[in-house]
Amino acid sequence: MTRMHVAGSIHADATNPAPQWLVKPTDVNQLDHRLWSDTVERVGSGELRIGGLTASQIVARTGSPVYVIDEVDFRGRALSWRKSFDGWNVYYAAKSFLCATVARWVAEEGLNLDVSSHGELLVALRAGFDPGRIALHGNNKSEDVLRLALTCGVGRIVVDSSDEITRLERLTAELGVRATVLIRVTTGVEAHTHEYIATAHEDQKFGLSITGGQALVGMVRCYHSPAIDLVGIHSHIGSQIFDTNGFEVAARRTLKLMAQFREATGVMLKELDLGGGFGIAYTADDSPSTAADLAQGLKDIVAHECRAFGLTVPILSVEPGRAISGPAGTALYTVGTVKNVEIGGGLTRRYVSVDGGMSDNIRPALYGADYSAVLANRASEARPVLSRVVGLHCEGGDILVRDVFLPGDVRPGDLIAVPASGAYSRSMASNYNHTPRPPVVAVRDGRLSTLVHRETMDDLLALDAGLNSRDDDEVYG
Ligand SMILES: *Cc1c(COP(=O)(O)O)cnc(C)c1O
Repeated sequence: MTRMHVAGSIHADATNPAPQWLVKPTDVNQLDHRLWSDTVERVGSGELRIGGLTASQIVARTGSPVYVIDEVDFRGRALSWRKSFDGWNVYYAAKSFLCATVARWVAEEGLNLDVSSHGELLVALRAGFDPGRIALHGNNKSEDVLRLALTCGVGRIVVDSSDEITRLERLTAELGVRATVLIRVTTGVEAHTHEYIATAHEDQKFGLSITGGQALVGMVRCYHSPAIDLVGIHSHIGSQIFDTNGFEVAARRTLKLMAQFREATGVMLKELDLGGGFGIAYTADDSPSTAADLAQGLKDIVAHECRAFGLTVPILSVEPGRAISGPAGTALYTVGTVKNVEIGGGLTRRYVSVDGGMSDNIRPALYGADYSAVLANRASEARPVLSRVVGLHCEGGDILVRDVFLPGDVRPGDLIAVPASGAYSRSMASNYNHTPRPPVVAVRDGRLSTLVHRETMDDLLALDAGLNSRDDDEVYG
Protein backbone atom coordinates (compact mmCIF):
# COMPACT_ATOMS: atom_id res chain seq x y z
CA MET A 1 0.00 0.00 0.00
CA THR A 2 1.25 3.47 0.73
CA ARG A 3 4.47 4.51 2.35
CA MET A 4 2.79 7.18 4.39
CA HIS A 5 4.05 7.40 7.93
CA VAL A 6 0.73 7.18 9.64
CA ALA A 7 1.92 6.85 13.20
CA GLY A 8 5.37 8.08 14.05
CA SER A 9 5.53 5.83 17.08
CA ILE A 10 5.41 2.60 15.07
CA HIS A 11 8.71 3.57 13.46
CA ALA A 12 10.33 4.54 16.69
CA ASP A 13 12.69 2.35 18.60
CA ALA A 14 13.45 2.66 22.29
CA THR A 15 16.29 5.12 21.93
CA ASN A 16 15.29 7.07 18.88
CA PRO A 17 11.73 8.31 18.44
CA ALA A 18 12.46 9.68 14.95
CA PRO A 19 11.12 7.71 11.99
CA GLN A 20 13.81 5.78 10.14
CA TRP A 21 13.67 7.97 7.04
CA LEU A 22 14.36 11.18 8.97
CA VAL A 23 18.07 11.92 9.11
CA LYS A 24 19.38 14.17 11.85
CA PRO A 25 20.98 17.13 10.08
CA THR A 26 24.57 18.07 10.79
CA ASP A 27 23.64 21.70 10.11
CA VAL A 28 20.10 22.49 11.13
CA ASN A 29 20.16 25.70 9.06
CA GLN A 30 20.90 23.81 5.85
CA LEU A 31 18.16 23.88 3.19
CA ASP A 32 17.43 20.76 1.17
CA HIS A 33 16.84 22.45 -2.16
CA ARG A 34 14.75 19.58 -3.50
CA LEU A 35 11.98 20.65 -1.10
CA TRP A 36 12.02 24.40 -1.63
CA SER A 37 10.84 26.67 -4.41
CA ASP A 38 13.50 27.95 -6.80
CA THR A 39 14.31 31.31 -5.30
CA VAL A 40 14.43 30.20 -1.65
CA GLU A 41 17.76 30.84 0.05
CA ARG A 42 19.21 31.84 3.40
CA VAL A 43 20.62 35.35 3.34
CA GLY A 44 23.60 36.66 5.31
CA SER A 45 21.62 37.13 8.53
CA GLY A 46 20.48 33.52 8.26
CA GLU A 47 16.92 34.45 7.39
CA LEU A 48 14.96 32.54 4.80
CA ARG A 49 14.26 34.60 1.69
CA ILE A 50 11.65 33.82 -0.98
CA GLY A 51 11.30 35.82 -4.18
CA GLY A 52 13.67 38.44 -2.81
CA LEU A 53 11.79 39.03 0.44
CA THR A 54 12.74 37.64 3.84
CA ALA A 55 10.24 35.66 5.88
CA SER A 56 9.94 38.48 8.41
CA GLN A 57 9.49 41.11 5.70
CA ILE A 58 6.65 39.04 4.27
CA VAL A 59 4.96 38.43 7.60
CA ALA A 60 5.34 42.11 8.57
CA ARG A 61 3.22 42.95 5.55
CA THR A 62 0.73 40.09 5.47
CA GLY A 63 0.39 38.94 9.05
CA SER A 64 0.76 35.30 10.04
CA PRO A 65 0.10 32.62 8.97
CA VAL A 66 0.45 33.18 5.23
CA TYR A 67 0.89 31.07 2.11
CA VAL A 68 3.67 32.43 -0.10
CA ILE A 69 3.79 31.51 -3.79
CA ASP A 70 7.13 31.90 -5.56
CA GLU A 71 5.88 33.19 -8.91
CA VAL A 72 9.09 32.42 -10.79
CA ASP A 73 8.97 28.86 -9.54
CA PHE A 74 5.29 28.35 -10.36
CA ARG A 75 5.64 29.71 -13.87
CA GLY A 76 8.89 27.83 -14.40
CA ARG A 77 7.29 24.51 -13.49
CA ALA A 78 4.24 25.19 -15.64
CA LEU A 79 6.50 26.01 -18.59
CA SER A 80 8.69 22.99 -18.01
CA TRP A 81 5.63 20.70 -18.06
CA ARG A 82 4.40 22.28 -21.28
CA LYS A 83 7.82 22.02 -22.94
CA SER A 84 8.55 18.50 -21.69
CA PHE A 85 5.15 17.32 -22.94
CA ASP A 86 5.54 19.08 -26.27
CA GLY A 87 2.67 18.07 -28.57
CA TRP A 88 0.48 16.97 -25.65
CA ASN A 89 -2.24 18.97 -23.93
CA VAL A 90 -1.10 19.87 -20.45
CA TYR A 91 -3.99 20.74 -18.15
CA TYR A 92 -3.16 22.40 -14.83
CA ALA A 93 -5.39 20.80 -12.18
CA ALA A 94 -7.16 23.76 -10.57
CA LYS A 95 -8.20 21.88 -7.47
CA SER A 96 -4.60 21.90 -6.23
CA PHE A 97 -4.83 25.71 -6.02
CA LEU A 98 -6.69 28.25 -8.10
CA CYS A 99 -7.35 31.97 -7.97
CA ALA A 100 -7.79 34.46 -10.79
CA THR A 101 -4.12 35.43 -10.95
CA VAL A 102 -2.99 31.80 -11.05
CA ALA A 103 -5.48 31.12 -13.85
CA ARG A 104 -3.83 33.98 -15.79
CA TRP A 105 -0.32 32.63 -15.14
CA VAL A 106 -1.46 29.22 -16.39
CA ALA A 107 -2.88 30.79 -19.56
CA GLU A 108 0.28 32.85 -20.11
CA GLU A 109 2.49 29.77 -19.82
CA GLY A 110 0.38 28.06 -22.47
CA LEU A 111 -1.34 25.39 -20.37
CA ASN A 112 -4.95 24.30 -20.38
CA LEU A 113 -7.01 24.12 -17.20
CA ASP A 114 -8.86 21.29 -15.54
CA VAL A 115 -11.64 22.25 -13.14
CA SER A 116 -13.80 19.99 -11.02
CA SER A 117 -16.48 22.22 -9.57
CA HIS A 118 -18.78 25.14 -10.31
CA GLY A 119 -16.61 27.46 -8.22
CA GLU A 120 -13.37 26.53 -9.96
CA LEU A 121 -15.01 27.00 -13.36
CA LEU A 122 -16.35 30.38 -12.32
CA VAL A 123 -12.94 31.61 -11.13
CA ALA A 124 -11.39 30.54 -14.43
CA LEU A 125 -14.06 32.22 -16.54
CA ARG A 126 -14.01 35.43 -14.50
CA ALA A 127 -10.22 35.48 -14.88
CA GLY A 128 -10.73 35.44 -18.64
CA PHE A 129 -9.47 31.89 -19.21
CA ASP A 130 -10.39 30.63 -22.68
CA PRO A 131 -13.30 28.20 -22.07
CA GLY A 132 -12.21 26.13 -25.07
CA ARG A 133 -9.08 25.21 -23.10
CA ILE A 134 -10.94 24.08 -19.99
CA ALA A 135 -11.90 20.50 -19.09
CA LEU A 136 -14.70 20.00 -16.57
CA HIS A 137 -14.50 17.02 -14.20
CA GLY A 138 -16.73 15.75 -11.43
CA ASN A 139 -18.62 12.61 -10.48
CA ASN A 140 -21.75 14.58 -9.60
CA LYS A 141 -21.76 17.78 -11.62
CA SER A 142 -24.76 19.95 -10.86
CA GLU A 143 -27.16 20.98 -13.59
CA ASP A 144 -26.04 24.54 -12.98
CA VAL A 145 -22.41 23.80 -13.74
CA LEU A 146 -23.32 21.69 -16.79
CA ARG A 147 -25.45 24.52 -18.14
CA LEU A 148 -22.65 27.01 -17.57
CA ALA A 149 -20.13 24.67 -19.22
CA LEU A 150 -22.39 24.10 -22.22
CA THR A 151 -23.31 27.75 -22.73
CA CYS A 152 -19.77 29.11 -22.33
CA GLY A 153 -18.29 26.41 -24.56
CA VAL A 154 -16.02 24.49 -22.23
CA GLY A 155 -13.60 22.46 -24.34
CA ARG A 156 -14.12 19.05 -22.74
CA ILE A 157 -16.74 17.73 -20.36
CA VAL A 158 -15.40 14.60 -18.72
CA VAL A 159 -18.46 12.35 -18.43
CA ASP A 160 -18.48 10.30 -15.27
CA SER A 161 -21.71 8.27 -15.23
CA SER A 162 -24.64 7.12 -17.31
CA ASP A 163 -26.91 9.48 -15.35
CA GLU A 164 -24.71 12.28 -16.58
CA ILE A 165 -25.10 11.15 -20.19
CA THR A 166 -28.89 11.36 -19.70
CA ARG A 167 -28.53 14.82 -18.18
CA LEU A 168 -26.29 15.99 -21.03
CA GLU A 169 -28.73 14.69 -23.63
CA ARG A 170 -31.52 16.68 -22.03
CA LEU A 171 -29.48 19.88 -21.51
CA THR A 172 -27.92 19.92 -24.98
CA ALA A 173 -31.42 19.56 -26.48
CA GLU A 174 -32.83 22.27 -24.24
CA LEU A 175 -29.97 24.71 -24.85
CA GLY A 176 -29.50 23.87 -28.52
CA VAL A 177 -25.77 23.24 -28.12
CA ARG A 178 -23.39 20.31 -28.55
CA ALA A 179 -21.19 18.75 -25.86
CA THR A 180 -17.62 17.64 -26.55
CA VAL A 181 -16.84 14.88 -24.10
CA LEU A 182 -14.21 12.52 -22.83
CA ILE A 183 -15.41 9.49 -20.93
CA ARG A 184 -13.83 8.90 -17.54
CA VAL A 185 -13.01 5.24 -17.10
CA THR A 186 -11.67 3.24 -14.20
CA THR A 187 -8.82 1.00 -15.17
CA GLY A 188 -8.48 -0.85 -11.87
CA VAL A 189 -5.09 0.78 -11.31
CA GLU A 190 -4.59 2.50 -8.00
CA ALA A 191 -1.28 4.24 -7.59
CA HIS A 192 0.33 5.77 -4.53
CA THR A 193 3.88 7.02 -4.36
CA HIS A 194 6.25 4.20 -5.34
CA GLU A 195 3.66 1.48 -5.41
CA TYR A 196 0.61 0.74 -7.40
CA ILE A 197 -2.06 -1.88 -7.37
CA ALA A 198 -3.67 -3.19 -10.53
CA THR A 199 -6.81 -5.17 -9.86
CA ALA A 200 -9.99 -6.08 -11.65
CA HIS A 201 -11.99 -4.63 -8.80
CA GLU A 202 -12.80 -0.93 -8.76
CA ASP A 203 -14.57 0.04 -5.59
CA GLN A 204 -14.69 3.83 -5.96
CA LYS A 205 -17.00 6.60 -7.05
CA PHE A 206 -15.31 7.94 -10.18
CA GLY A 207 -15.84 6.95 -13.77
CA LEU A 208 -17.21 3.99 -15.66
CA SER A 209 -15.62 0.62 -15.17
CA ILE A 210 -13.73 -1.01 -18.02
CA THR A 211 -13.80 -4.50 -16.57
CA GLY A 212 -17.45 -4.18 -15.59
CA GLY A 213 -18.30 -3.25 -19.20
CA GLN A 214 -20.01 0.07 -18.30
CA ALA A 215 -17.27 2.09 -19.98
CA LEU A 216 -17.82 0.61 -23.44
CA VAL A 217 -21.61 0.81 -23.05
CA GLY A 218 -21.37 4.48 -22.06
CA MET A 219 -19.04 5.23 -24.96
CA VAL A 220 -21.33 3.62 -27.51
CA ARG A 221 -24.26 5.49 -26.00
CA CYS A 222 -22.42 8.84 -26.32
CA TYR A 223 -21.49 7.92 -29.87
CA HIS A 224 -25.16 7.47 -30.80
CA SER A 225 -26.34 10.61 -28.96
CA PRO A 226 -27.19 13.32 -31.47
CA ALA A 227 -25.65 16.25 -29.56
CA ILE A 228 -22.71 14.54 -27.84
CA ASP A 229 -19.33 14.42 -29.55
CA LEU A 230 -17.26 11.71 -27.87
CA VAL A 231 -13.61 12.48 -28.62
CA GLY A 232 -11.72 10.29 -26.19
CA ILE A 233 -11.06 8.55 -22.92
CA HIS A 234 -9.89 9.88 -19.58
CA SER A 235 -8.14 7.97 -16.82
CA HIS A 236 -6.72 9.24 -13.52
CA ILE A 237 -5.02 6.64 -11.37
CA GLY A 238 -4.07 8.34 -8.12
CA SER A 239 -1.86 10.92 -6.50
CA GLN A 240 1.68 11.57 -5.33
CA ILE A 241 2.96 8.99 -7.87
CA PHE A 242 6.72 8.83 -8.45
CA ASP A 243 7.11 6.54 -11.45
CA THR A 244 5.32 5.41 -14.59
CA ASN A 245 4.49 1.78 -13.67
CA GLY A 246 0.85 2.50 -12.89
CA PHE A 247 0.45 4.51 -16.09
CA GLU A 248 1.69 1.57 -18.12
CA VAL A 249 -1.22 -0.61 -17.01
CA ALA A 250 -3.67 2.30 -17.34
CA ALA A 251 -2.47 3.03 -20.89
CA ARG A 252 -2.75 -0.63 -21.85
CA ARG A 253 -6.30 -0.92 -20.52
CA THR A 254 -7.55 2.37 -21.99
CA LEU A 255 -6.00 1.70 -25.41
CA LYS A 256 -7.47 -1.78 -25.45
CA LEU A 257 -10.83 -0.12 -24.78
CA MET A 258 -10.24 2.20 -27.74
CA ALA A 259 -9.57 -0.84 -29.91
CA GLN A 260 -12.82 -2.43 -28.68
CA PHE A 261 -14.72 0.78 -29.39
CA ARG A 262 -13.28 0.82 -32.89
CA GLU A 263 -14.46 -2.75 -33.36
CA ALA A 264 -17.95 -1.86 -32.14
CA THR A 265 -18.38 1.35 -34.14
CA GLY A 266 -15.65 1.54 -36.77
CA VAL A 267 -14.48 4.81 -35.20
CA MET A 268 -11.04 5.49 -33.72
CA LEU A 269 -11.21 7.98 -30.87
CA LYS A 270 -8.75 10.86 -31.12
CA GLU A 271 -7.81 11.61 -27.53
CA LEU A 272 -6.41 9.91 -24.45
CA ASP A 273 -6.04 11.84 -21.20
CA LEU A 274 -3.86 10.05 -18.65
CA GLY A 275 -4.77 12.37 -15.77
CA GLY A 276 -2.52 13.75 -13.04
CA GLY A 277 -1.09 12.61 -9.75
CA PHE A 278 2.62 13.23 -10.33
CA GLY A 279 4.47 13.31 -7.03
CA ILE A 280 6.57 16.01 -5.40
CA ALA A 281 9.09 16.11 -2.54
CA TYR A 282 7.46 16.93 0.79
CA THR A 283 10.40 15.53 2.77
CA ALA A 284 13.93 14.37 2.02
CA ASP A 285 12.50 10.85 1.72
CA ASP A 286 10.61 11.69 -1.50
CA SER A 287 12.32 11.45 -4.88
CA PRO A 288 10.03 12.68 -7.65
CA SER A 289 10.80 12.31 -11.35
CA THR A 290 11.24 15.38 -13.51
CA ALA A 291 8.59 16.40 -16.02
CA ALA A 292 11.05 15.55 -18.80
CA ASP A 293 11.60 12.01 -17.51
CA LEU A 294 7.89 11.43 -17.01
CA ALA A 295 7.18 12.72 -20.51
CA GLN A 296 9.70 10.36 -22.05
CA GLY A 297 8.39 7.44 -20.01
CA LEU A 298 4.75 8.09 -20.87
CA LYS A 299 5.51 8.61 -24.56
CA ASP A 300 7.34 5.30 -24.74
CA ILE A 301 4.56 3.48 -22.89
CA VAL A 302 1.80 4.84 -25.12
CA ALA A 303 3.77 4.20 -28.30
CA HIS A 304 4.45 0.62 -27.23
CA GLU A 305 0.84 -0.11 -26.29
CA CYS A 306 -0.50 1.49 -29.48
CA ARG A 307 1.75 -0.77 -31.55
CA ALA A 308 0.47 -3.77 -29.62
CA PHE A 309 -3.16 -2.91 -30.41
CA GLY A 310 -2.52 -1.66 -33.96
CA LEU A 311 -3.71 1.85 -33.10
CA THR A 312 -2.41 5.21 -34.25
CA VAL A 313 -1.14 7.23 -31.29
CA PRO A 314 -3.97 9.47 -30.05
CA ILE A 315 -3.67 13.09 -29.00
CA LEU A 316 -2.43 12.81 -25.42
CA SER A 317 -3.08 14.85 -22.32
CA VAL A 318 -1.82 15.02 -18.74
CA GLU A 319 -3.19 16.95 -15.78
CA PRO A 320 -0.48 17.89 -13.27
CA GLY A 321 -1.71 19.89 -10.28
CA ARG A 322 0.50 19.35 -7.27
CA ALA A 323 3.62 19.01 -9.44
CA ILE A 324 3.21 22.65 -10.50
CA SER A 325 1.61 24.40 -7.54
CA GLY A 326 2.97 22.30 -4.65
CA PRO A 327 6.68 23.12 -4.62
CA ALA A 328 5.98 26.77 -5.50
CA GLY A 329 4.27 27.41 -2.17
CA THR A 330 5.69 27.89 1.31
CA ALA A 331 3.56 28.33 4.43
CA LEU A 332 4.86 30.72 7.10
CA TYR A 333 3.69 30.40 10.70
CA THR A 334 4.57 32.09 13.97
CA VAL A 335 5.55 30.03 16.99
CA GLY A 336 3.34 30.61 20.05
CA THR A 337 4.37 27.96 22.55
CA VAL A 338 7.09 25.34 22.93
CA LYS A 339 6.72 22.29 25.18
CA ASN A 340 8.88 19.30 25.95
CA VAL A 341 6.66 16.27 26.48
CA GLU A 342 7.77 13.00 28.11
CA ILE A 343 6.98 10.18 25.70
CA GLY A 344 8.26 7.28 27.79
CA GLY A 345 11.59 5.49 27.88
CA GLY A 346 13.24 8.65 29.18
CA LEU A 347 12.57 10.36 25.86
CA THR A 348 10.97 13.71 25.24
CA ARG A 349 9.38 15.19 22.18
CA ARG A 350 9.36 18.90 21.55
CA TYR A 351 5.94 20.26 20.56
CA VAL A 352 6.16 23.55 18.70
CA SER A 353 2.72 25.16 18.45
CA VAL A 354 2.10 27.62 15.65
CA ASP A 355 -0.73 30.01 14.77
CA GLY A 356 -2.29 27.76 12.09
CA GLY A 357 -2.90 24.05 11.83
CA MET A 358 -5.32 21.56 10.34
CA SER A 359 -7.59 24.38 9.13
CA ASP A 360 -4.90 25.61 6.73
CA ASN A 361 -3.30 22.24 5.95
CA ILE A 362 -5.52 19.22 6.48
CA ARG A 363 -3.26 16.76 4.63
CA PRO A 364 -1.30 15.45 7.63
CA ALA A 365 -4.56 14.83 9.54
CA LEU A 366 -6.44 13.54 6.49
CA TYR A 367 -3.83 11.32 4.85
CA GLY A 368 -1.05 11.05 7.38
CA ALA A 369 0.99 13.15 4.95
CA ASP A 370 4.51 14.08 6.00
CA TYR A 371 5.96 17.56 5.68
CA SER A 372 9.20 19.27 6.59
CA ALA A 373 9.93 22.63 8.23
CA VAL A 374 12.74 25.03 9.11
CA LEU A 375 13.27 27.98 11.40
CA ALA A 376 12.76 30.87 8.98
CA ASN A 377 13.52 34.20 10.67
CA ARG A 378 17.10 33.48 11.75
CA ALA A 379 19.88 30.94 11.69
CA SER A 380 20.63 29.06 14.87
CA GLU A 381 23.73 27.61 16.52
CA ALA A 382 21.62 25.34 18.72
CA ARG A 383 21.68 21.57 18.30
CA PRO A 384 18.91 19.87 16.29
CA VAL A 385 16.00 18.64 18.42
CA LEU A 386 13.36 16.23 17.19
CA SER A 387 10.20 18.32 17.08
CA ARG A 388 6.56 18.11 16.14
CA VAL A 389 4.95 21.20 14.66
CA VAL A 390 1.32 21.38 15.76
CA GLY A 391 -1.53 23.83 15.29
CA LEU A 392 -3.92 25.73 17.52
CA HIS A 393 -7.00 23.57 17.00
CA CYS A 394 -8.85 21.48 19.55
CA GLU A 395 -7.76 18.12 18.14
CA GLY A 396 -4.89 15.90 19.20
CA GLY A 397 -4.41 15.08 15.51
CA ASP A 398 -3.89 18.75 14.65
CA ILE A 399 -0.36 18.13 13.38
CA LEU A 400 1.38 20.07 10.61
CA VAL A 401 4.79 18.38 10.65
CA ARG A 402 4.90 15.08 12.52
CA ASP A 403 8.67 14.71 12.77
CA VAL A 404 11.33 17.27 11.99
CA PHE A 405 14.61 18.38 13.49
CA LEU A 406 14.40 22.04 14.49
CA PRO A 407 17.04 24.03 16.36
CA GLY A 408 16.85 23.53 20.13
CA ASP A 409 16.36 27.25 20.74
CA VAL A 410 13.11 27.69 18.79
CA ARG A 411 11.00 30.07 20.86
CA PRO A 412 7.76 32.05 20.80
CA GLY A 413 7.83 34.72 18.09
CA ASP A 414 10.03 32.71 15.74
CA LEU A 415 8.82 32.02 12.21
CA ILE A 416 8.51 28.47 10.89
CA ALA A 417 8.46 27.80 7.14
CA VAL A 418 6.86 24.66 5.69
CA PRO A 419 7.86 23.92 2.08
CA ALA A 420 5.69 22.21 -0.56
CA SER A 421 2.59 23.96 0.78
CA GLY A 422 1.27 25.31 -2.52
CA ALA A 423 -1.05 22.42 -3.36
CA TYR A 424 -4.10 21.16 -1.44
CA SER A 425 -3.38 23.50 1.47
CA ARG A 426 -5.32 26.71 0.82
CA SER A 427 -7.60 24.83 -1.56
CA MET A 428 -8.60 22.40 1.22
CA ALA A 429 -8.57 24.97 4.04
CA SER A 430 -11.52 25.12 6.42
CA ASN A 431 -12.85 27.41 9.11
CA TYR A 432 -12.59 24.81 11.86
CA ASN A 433 -12.78 26.46 15.30
CA HIS A 434 -14.02 29.60 13.51
CA THR A 435 -10.52 30.21 12.25
CA PRO A 436 -10.25 32.65 9.33
CA ARG A 437 -8.28 31.24 6.39
CA PRO A 438 -4.83 32.74 5.72
CA PRO A 439 -4.09 34.88 2.68
CA VAL A 440 -2.08 33.79 -0.35
CA VAL A 441 0.58 36.16 -1.66
CA ALA A 442 2.90 35.97 -4.63
CA VAL A 443 6.51 37.09 -4.31
CA ARG A 444 8.81 37.93 -7.16
CA ASP A 445 12.00 40.05 -7.42
CA GLY A 446 11.44 41.59 -4.01
CA ARG A 447 7.84 42.51 -4.72
CA LEU A 448 4.81 41.08 -2.99
CA SER A 449 1.27 40.95 -4.33
CA THR A 450 -1.91 39.56 -2.84
CA LEU A 451 -3.50 36.60 -4.65
CA VAL A 452 -6.19 35.79 -2.07
CA HIS A 453 -7.07 38.11 0.79
CA ARG A 454 -6.91 37.06 4.41
CA GLU A 455 -10.33 36.03 5.60
CA THR A 456 -11.44 38.28 8.46
CA MET A 457 -13.48 37.60 11.55
CA ASP A 458 -16.13 39.83 9.98
CA ASP A 459 -16.18 37.56 6.90
CA LEU A 460 -16.91 34.63 9.19
CA LEU A 461 -19.48 36.41 11.36
CA ALA A 462 -21.30 37.69 8.28
CA LEU A 463 -22.66 34.19 7.66
CA ASP A 464 -24.09 33.81 11.15
CA ALA A 465 -27.77 34.56 10.68
CA GLY A 466 -28.15 35.14 14.43
CA LEU A 467 -25.80 38.13 14.06
CA ASN A 468 -26.43 39.29 10.51
CA SER A 469 -29.85 38.56 9.09
CA ARG A 470 -30.53 38.72 5.37
CA ASP A 471 -33.70 39.80 3.61
CA ASP A 472 -34.74 36.28 2.67
CA ASP A 473 -34.01 34.69 6.07
CA GLU A 474 -36.56 32.67 7.93
CA VAL A 475 -36.22 34.35 11.31
CA TYR A 476 -35.38 32.05 14.22
CA GLY A 477 -38.00 31.88 17.00
C1 LIG B 1 -6.77 15.54 -8.59
C2 LIG B 1 -6.76 15.34 -10.03
C3 LIG B 1 -5.67 15.77 -10.80
C4 LIG B 1 -4.44 16.40 -10.21
O1 LIG B 1 -3.83 15.60 -9.28
P1 LIG B 1 -2.35 16.04 -8.75
O2 LIG B 1 -2.04 15.01 -7.73
O3 LIG B 1 -2.50 17.39 -8.15
O4 LIG B 1 -1.47 16.06 -9.94
C5 LIG B 1 -5.74 15.61 -12.17
N1 LIG B 1 -6.82 15.04 -12.76
C6 LIG B 1 -7.88 14.62 -12.04
C7 LIG B 1 -9.03 14.01 -12.75
C8 LIG B 1 -7.88 14.73 -10.67
O5 LIG B 1 -8.94 14.30 -9.97
